[in-house]
Amino acid sequence: MTILTQNGAGHRTERLTRERADRFAKCLQANPRFDGVTVVENPNAKGERRFYVTWIPASNARQQDLRELHAAIQIGRGECQWMNYVVTATETAGRYDVENQQNGETYQVQLHAAVGNTCTCPQWEARCRPAGIDCKHCEVVRIHLRLDLVQPSPAVIGAPDVSDLLESEPLPAPARVSRIPASQWAADWGDQA
Ligand SMILES: [Zn+2]
Repeated sequence: MTILTQNGAGHRTERLTRERADRFAKCLQANPRFDGVTVVENPNAKGERRFYVTWIPASNARQQDLRELHAAIQIGRGECQWMNYVVTATETAGRYDVENQQNGETYQVQLHAAVGNTCTCPQWEARCRPAGIDCKHCEVVRIHLRLDLVQPSPAVIGAPDVSDLLESEPLPAPARVSRIPASQWAADWGDQA
């Protein structure tokens, strides 16, 4: 099967015993068409068969094919899941907080056309960066931008203006960003997803 390996877009075997994994890895290593051959132990698997082998194609053209496939997979994930997220602009141009409304996880995406986009999620760091592709969060941000759903930066909304600072009255409470619950989004947008 095809996966994002720590060396880039490539392939992996099913789970094998250590001996079989080592043997298969040796065969792959002897073949000039393959590169980045790695035996990986799945820390969560039990029993003998908890190893698998990953590798990437040596050919640049093959690597490019796999990269495009995985880039499309990440875009598909973003398209399926964008409604689960709230995207909020930060004070830095092109940088967004991407919060998963279902589990509260928040990552930061930096869109950067010239040098490539980045994300702070573990998937981007470990898998997408080596392959040179975006993670689904980058696609979620692009979709929210396209639909004009990006929330403004709370820092900008909450900042008192100079006239507030000059008066001795207590500062007014910062404006609150209204957030639409994910369930409401699903009701409003679900049939269009
Ligand atoms: Zn990400």
